[in-house]
Amino acid sequence: FADRKNSFGPNIEIESEWRPFKAQIDTFMGQDTQWRAYPIVGGEKVKTDQTHAIKSPYDHSQAVGDIDWADQTTVAKAIGLAQAAFPAWSARPTSERADCLDKMADLMEENYPELMALCHREAGKTIQDSIDEVREAVDFCRYYAQQARSHFAEPHKYTDFLGQDKRAQWKGHGVFTCISPWNFPLAIFTGQVVAALVVGNTVIAKPAEQTSLIAVRAIELLHQAGVPGNVLHLLPGDGASVGAPLTNDQRIAGLAFTGSTGTAQLINRTLAARNVPPVPVIAETGGQNAMIIDSTSLPEQVVRDAVRSAFASAGQRCSALRVMFVQKDIADRVIPMIKGAMQEQSVGLPYLHSTDVGPVIDQKAQTMLLEHIKHMTKVGKLIAQAELPDLTNKGTFVPPTAFEIDSIDQLTDEKFGPILHVVRYQARDLNTIIDTINQSGFGLTMGVHSRNETTCARIANRARVGNLYINRDQVGAVVGVQPFGGQGLSGTGPKAGGPHYLQRFATEQDL
Ligand code: GLU
Repeated sequence: FADRKNSFGPNIEIESEWRPFKAQIDTFMGQDTQWRAYPIVGGEKVKTDQTHAIKSPYDHSQAVGDIDWADQTTVAKAIGLAQAAFPAWSARPTSERADCLDKMADLMEENYPELMALCHREAGKTIQDSIDEVREAVDFCRYYAQQARSHFAEPHKYTDFLGQDKRAQWKGHGVFTCISPWNFPLAIFTGQVVAALVVGNTVIAKPAEQTSLIAVRAIELLHQAGVPGNVLHLLPGDGASVGAPLTNDQRIAGLAFTGSTGTAQLINRTLAARNVPPVPVIAETGGQNAMIIDSTSLPEQVVRDAVRSAFASAGQRCSALRVMFVQKDIADRVIPMIKGAMQEQSVGLPYLHSTDVGPVIDQKAQTMLLEHIKHMTKVGKLIAQAELPDLTNKGTFVPPTAFEIDSIDQLTDEKFGPILHVVRYQARDLNTIIDTINQSGFGLTMGVHSRNETTCARIANRARVGNLYINRDQVGAVVGVQPFGGQGLSGTGPKAGGPHYLQRFATEQDL
């Protein structure tokens, strides 16, 4: 893959590249209900009587659009059509399906300003995060297209001990359900869907209810890219009304899910309770991600990487740093520096270039995070809290906050937002620290800051995490370069954006 390039996205520092984005953002400002969207079944919009308004996370006075949720009849129709479409779609040459993914990547690049503005407005993403979102979606399409062409297009050959040749071919399983989160409403949504499609499955996608509009736009583009209407359907709605029937139905042959650990466990139980053969599940869930900083690290670099890992995207990444372990010998130097850097963080309206941290997704998230901050004020010691402009009545903002605590055991579960916890440790306790992190049961990302190679190797050997980052930040995995996914409570793997991902969506059949 020497010729493979990741998408660069526009350079908004250049006025001519920034103008189309600004125009899109300006169009939406102050106007109500820009989008009217519906479930898409068999390539057609389906109106239902369950209309929901979507408000912008950074300004609740602005409606972003209205979306109809799918009702039971629509769900049943989509499953039936997807099942009927499977034989023809899976019989198509892999290269034709891969062409659709490449075309989708091109279409997303052509529609960059609109997609980016939608991510920004519906998910409250900062300008840079919105651009990165589209970039990652483009990368998933191109990468999986290339993987499919290289490994799935032709049968592969095995030779046994007697010299007999055997040929096997990867095939899709059938109807795949893809359930995606609001924190990467375009990238993860598109990544799951195109992975399932390219190896020959038909797909029913259920986007997060907070970010269904961007999903609608993605589906329209996928159909425009050549994916037939009967092969790919979109069912907006919540877990109870759409997620549950899409998991319960006997015809579902596989499921990809990104979201909370609790929901993944529920999905597993529901799938297992069906009276049908077991099906593949790909779950990418939460984390209680740590960064370990020893006394040989470079404090300036530590602070830059920790602040980005904890607070970028308002901490709403499953990869985000939650607990930073600082060796006692340098803690009195590093902690005040973290405090200083946090005071520099600009929290506010995500369409301003100067904003580092935008809103959290909704009121439920805001309430949960503010309660956690209140609780931590009692059990921990406040290190710093970034200043919050007076936006509380406008949108759902939470100030980046850092606490010092005694142990990771004081944290019960993942708090998905801009809150950092700092623990001091003694060098002799390093193994115990790693063991306690492992005992949390999560295993997604870990950061290590050390100039001692032996320490880095020791941590890498002992820690049970999917993604380990040494002397850098621990968010923003790049497709094809840092395949992303965890273990234990953090998910099943295989890693998204990596060379083994597509295999789980397919079955190997002898010819
Ligand atoms: N892949 C993203 C990252 O590396 C995180 C994905 C997620 O939050 O689900 O930051």
